Amino acid sequence: MSHKSIAIDGPAGAGKSTLARQLAKELGFLYVDTGAIYRTVALAVLRAGADPADPAQVVPLLEGMNIQMGYGGDGVQRMGLGPEDVTEAIREHRISGAASKVSAIPAVRAFLLDYQRGLSRAHDIVMDGRDIGTVVLPNADVKIFLTAAPEARARRRLLELEQRGQEADFGAILHDIKERDFQDEHRPVAPLKRAEDAALLDTTNLNLEQSCDRLLSLIKEKIGL
Ligand code: C5P
Repeated sequence: MSHKSIAIDGPAGAGKSTLARQLAKELGFLYVDTGAIYRTVALAVLRAGADPADPAQVVPLLEGMNIQMGYGGDGVQRMGLGPEDVTEAIREHRISGAASKVSAIPAVRAFLLDYQRGLSRAHDIVMDGRDIGTVVLPNADVKIFLTAAPEARARRRLLELEQRGQEADFGAILHDIKERDFQDEHRPVAPLKRAEDAALLDTTNLNLEQSCDRLLSLIKEKIGL
């Protein structure tokens, strides 16, 4: 029996990970946060003292990177680098920009592609990222593109960081979000863009529950649950 897959793409802070996690829980599917995988690569690159924007420094590091992905008892996706759990470390602010830089390197994307596709062959999944509906799972059963105004996304990020007890500044976050959008949308390989057959949801004026309800009905309609 083939497995069901739901692809959720969109810019940072549109609500992808919170919604994808919630949907996966409701549907009994596995949630895969692909941004966390790119973040783990970025962390490994920074720790090696390499420049995340320089393919000549990043690519030789890939083969030796021991990236692990697993799930805690609470169902939360955890990332490992060798024996170390880096789930929290990859959420640091400096990692976001570095992840956006390493993810523009074609060899990095190619390196992670089979792994992501393999997950979809083994499980019913909700996978979120930037290129899931366009590149990783072009035949996904349901494709969703989530978006929201940059200011709304910056406010959400600010709240998230504050809840983790991290220092944050709204202006700086907004600037970073816009810069990351630009980088992600303009890279030559697998840029952030809506797949033609993806349903669009703008979450600027929706709360989590409203967004989740809309997406659940859309998914149920498409895959006949
Ligand atoms: O989703 P998150 O903000 O954690 O992703 C961090 C960065 O990883 C993004 O800015 C993007 O550049 C990159 N990414 C990607 N493709 C994905 C997921 C994330 O290029 N499928």
